[in-house]
Amino acid sequence: MAELISNLSAESIRANLEFVRAQIASALERSPVERPAGEAAGVEVLAATKYVACEELPTLAAAGVSLVGENRAQDLQDKVQAHGELFDWDFIGQLQSRRVRLIVPHVRLIHSVASESALRELERHRHLARDGLRILIEVNLAGEPGKAGVQPDQLDGFIARAPVPVAGLMTMPPLSADPEASRPWFAALRELGRERGLPHLSMGTSQDYVVAAEEGSTIVRIGTKLYDPVAVTGGRSH
Ligand SMILES: *Cc1c(COP(=O)(O)O)cnc(C)c1O
Repeated sequence: MAELISNLSAESIRANLEFVRAQIASALERSPVERPAGEAAGVEVLAATKYVACEELPTLAAAGVSLVGENRAQDLQDKVQAHGELFDWDFIGQLQSRRVRLIVPHVRLIHSVASESALRELERHRHLARDGLRILIEVNLAGEPGKAGVQPDQLDGFIARAPVPVAGLMTMPPLSADPEASRPWFAALRELGRERGLPHLSMGTSQDYVVAAEEGSTIVRIGTKLYDPVAVTGGRSH
C-alpha cells in the first residue's frame, strides 16, 4: 500500500484532471472502436482515493472530481461518513466476502466482484444495498495465478448466478511499463462485454488510460496521475 499523500492542491489536481480528460477526448476522436449509445457512451474518470487521506477529500471535490473509488471497506465507511455528499462512490478493491455488507449501502458500482463467496454475500445483504447498486465482474484475462478475477470461460455461469444486476466487466492487465502491452487485454475485455451486451468496461489506470479509452473503456480509474504535484499540462506554465 502506498503512502498517503498530503498537501494536495486543488489547482494541480484540476490541471491534471483537465489533462486526462483532454487525452481521453482525443483518444475517442482517433479510435475506430464503436461505442455503445446511452449511459456508457462516454468515459468517466474515477479518482482512486486509496492514497488520499479523508481530510483531503474536499480538495478533490474543489478540483472537479465527482466520482471516487475506494479499495478498503473500512476506509470507504470512514470517508463516506465524513464526505459522502461530495461524490458518487464506487468500490474498486479486492472484495473480501465478509466485507460485502459494509460496502453495499454506500456504493453505486462494485468494480471487482470475482468470487462465488462474494456472490453469496451479495445475495444475503442485497436488502442493505443502496438503490440502483450494480456490479462489474473482474476478469483475469491472462490467467495470472494468484490474481483476482473470473476466468473468461467461467464468465457466463458467474454472471447467471449474480444476485444484483451486472453492468459490465473490469480488468487489470498484467503489469507492464509499456501501455501498449495492455491493448490486447483491453480489446479482449471489450469483446467479452460486447458478446454479452454489457455496457460498462472499467479498464485503464494512470499508466494506460489512453490506450484503454481507445479500446472502449467507459470508466478509467486514475490515482497517481491526478495527485502528481507537477502539473502535467504539456507546457502550460503556472
Ligand atoms: C490504485 C488503483 C488504481 C489507480 O492506479 P494508479 O496507477 O494510481 O492510477 C486503479 N484501479 C485499482 C483497482 C486500484 O487499486
